[in-house]
Amino acid sequence: MISDIDTETGSLITNLTCPECGAIHSAAVINTVCVNEACRSTLFAKYNLSRSINKSILAGRPATMWRYKEFLPVIEEKNIVTLGEGFTPIIPIENLRQFIGDNEVFWKDESGNPTGSFKARGISAAVSKAKELGIDTIATPTAGNAGGALAAYAARAAIRAIVYMPKQTPKVFKDECRLYGAELVEIDGNISDCGRLVNELALVHGWFQVSTLKEPYRLEGKKTMGYEIAEQFNWQLPDVILYPTGGGTGLIGMWKAFDELERLGWIGSKRPRMVAVQSQSCDGIVKAFNAGHHVSEFADGGFTIANGLRVPKPYADKVILRVLRETNGAAITISDEEMGSALKEIARNEGMLIAPEGAALWQAFKKLKATNWIKPGEKVLMINTGSGYKYLENIEL
Ligand SMILES: *Cc1c(COP(=O)(O)O)cnc(C)c1O
Ligand SMILES: [Zn+2]
Repeated sequence: MISDIDTETGSLITNLTCPECGAIHSAAVINTVCVNEACRSTLFAKYNLSRSINKSILAGRPATMWRYKEFLPVIEEKNIVTLGEGFTPIIPIENLRQFIGDNEVFWKDESGNPTGSFKARGISAAVSKAKELGIDTIATPTAGNAGGALAAYAARAAIRAIVYMPKQTPKVFKDECRLYGAELVEIDGNISDCGRLVNELALVHGWFQVSTLKEPYRLEGKKTMGYEIAEQFNWQLPDVILYPTGGGTGLIGMWKAFDELERLGWIGSKRPRMVAVQSQSCDGIVKAFNAGHHVSEFADGGFTIANGLRVPKPYADKVILRVLRETNGAAITISDEEMGSALKEIARNEGMLIAPEGAALWQAFKKLKATNWIKPGEKVLMINTGSGYKYLENIEL
């Protein structure tokens, strides 16, 4: 007879803790943000981590993000909603050596994820946990990729999905939502406008919303990038990580992962310097970082080809700024024009059709190297967060 134990993931989750006020929330019930009205902060999942857990548990595990299931929130195997997300390749810059000198520069290429972006990670975790908690309807505001990922994973989980997306978003992002059977609502506005609407309607209709960092589990999915980076670099983290920052989930997620890995004793205390790269049209984090502020101002300068970066005010701006400061990081903006030319440069020379969000990082790398912020010999990792194929209607050839 198969015992119950065989159907459990072995998740070590203990609770959800508020990083602002310390309030502890149960991980066994539905949560959004901290219940304390004064902070309403993103909740961080906590795990019972100890040095007695050996890396060897990973041997022979599937090449998806669920290989780290002890450090993810899902309790029952049957609730995992997976389409093979994660364990994406790390690919070195091969031909553009004139720009990299004696640095070692790599992409972590997220474009091969289901629905063509790293949003698959966060949404796989959030939809899985929603299934475990018996949720029947999930809604989200999106700049594009999160909506497609939610639509696909909700279809897989037989959960109803409702997606609010700015009208200006390229057609492919809308079509994929409809094809996966989600209810798509187009809004004459930006992602903040979508967010306000979803927030109001979710209350009225009892929908669960997976708006960036307003529920705890998308962060858990995205943090698996940090686990993979450590494992794929043989537990020696790079010196610098460049990240295209919208809501900041991936940036915060990697930082959380490195903290967990240190508590497991799988890595040491060295941390990469984290760099937030924003589009010139939404540069609130860059401005706040450079001015020494702890929160960002609303900043929406309108259309950008990098729709994933059109987030006028990240909900977790305080945490993003803390990560940048704690790691001696930096923040930098890139224009649409620069993204377009970087995208083409990478396509022609490296054979990768990366997203404009990823392309921004290549441009940022060149700038940070020119000012010697990136030092000779340092190992640099750029996260190509998505596939360029979804953006072609906005790329001039
Ligand atoms: C969403 C998205 C981003 C930004 O991710 P955050 O977690 O919101 O910071 C970057 N690139 C692409 C392709 C995206 O879809
Ligand atoms: Zn709190």
